[in-house]
Amino acid sequence: MTQQCTILVRYDEIGLKGKNRSMFINRLADNIRHALKGLDGIAIQKPHGRIRVDCPMEAADAAGQRLACVPGVASFSLGVAMEPDFEKMAELGVQWIEPLLNHGKHLKFCVKTKRADKRFPQTSTEVNYEVGSRILGRLHERGLEVDIDHADFTLEIEIGQEHTVVFKNRIAGLRGLPVGSSGEVLGLISGGIDSPVALFRIMKRGCRVHGIFFDNQPYMGRGGYDKVKRLSRQLNRYQSRARLYVVPFETIQESIRDHCRAPNRVVLYRRMMYRIAQSVAEKQGYLGLVTGESLGQVASQTLENLNAVSGLVALSVFRPLIGTDKNEIIRQAKELGTYEISIEPQPDCCSVFMPPNPTTKSKIHELEEDEARYSWQELMQSAIEKMEIIEVDELG
Ligand code: ATP
Ligand code: MG
Repeated sequence: MTQQCTILVRYDEIGLKGKNRSMFINRLADNIRHALKGLDGIAIQKPHGRIRVDCPMEAADAAGQRLACVPGVASFSLGVAMEPDFEKMAELGVQWIEPLLNHGKHLKFCVKTKRADKRFPQTSTEVNYEVGSRILGRLHERGLEVDIDHADFTLEIEIGQEHTVVFKNRIAGLRGLPVGSSGEVLGLISGGIDSPVALFRIMKRGCRVHGIFFDNQPYMGRGGYDKVKRLSRQLNRYQSRARLYVVPFETIQESIRDHCRAPNRVVLYRRMMYRIAQSVAEKQGYLGLVTGESLGQVASQTLENLNAVSGLVALSVFRPLIGTDKNEIIRQAKELGTYEISIEPQPDCCSVFMPPNPTTKSKIHELEEDEARYSWQELMQSAIEKMEIIEVDELG
């Protein structure tokens, strides 16, 4: 029989949710099941207060990598079920700790035991001592020390009625809430650095975030489209089952360029993006929009220009980056694996569509005057009709 691994998944914030608690836990368990799809021999249970995943040892690392991407997971640890024999438990601890010892550097460790089976002859403290002293005896000379409060490695032992499990050091999860527990929203995603980070932050608050991309293909080529597809695929690792809506935008941009005052153009493009996004969201039953706007970052993100777009939509607009500095956004984009995709060079449509002096203080009545000069309602309708819908899971 192949050796089995027991993974203990902990959640924390879910615990605050009163009567909805079981809905949250079921959602998290379902998301975990989905994230582990394709790995053989997975069994998921929900013992009180946590989720337990059993899998063959060969699949443990892959399962761990996927669990680290599931919002709602506070931490998890990989463990092995065994007899409650001090020698054997210590042997396993040595196996795990030894590779972490660097020449001459001290490593702090401790053992923490939980005893669900109170019939077990030793107390938790005694088990800590028995196992800990055996490990220390073997590795002390290599730099291992005991430190209960600041351990670099904590060996956890759970002595249950049926079996005892010994766990490796805990691995931090993403925390947040399970995707789907808050509902569904629509995120405006461009090929830039900011929007993928913004979408991720809302995912972490329990939303499934579908993407909408306004594509100016004739001017930007297929580069932008491919980039957004790859960004969506990367983000989908944290949620799955998302859609990407691709709206052809060139006709709208051309009309604005040809009929409206140059300094207002950028805000006018954005008003159309918001209107179309709202219409798609309403049709699909999504309850909010998400954007990567950050206050003052570029001309379109002044208070006046943000008001000029927000005022158009009745849905909530979430701007999780509004108060975040660019370097912090970049740091998170790197962590998420979107940064490298976002910075790939891409043809720029600025030269064709961006006015030399975009306004930072647009006035609503002027924008409305400009909009009276082109038939935006018809263009909007036709763009929505030509929209492509991509199931992101199917991108592989
Ligand atoms: P990003 O890095 O996300 O592209 P940015 O700093 O370039 O943002 P803007 O171009 O003003 O700023 O865009 C602000 C937000 O508007 C973006 O974060 C995104 O949510 C949305 N957005 C901009 N362009 C598009 C587009 N072509 N398709 C979909 N959404 C867009
Ligand atoms: Mg951009």
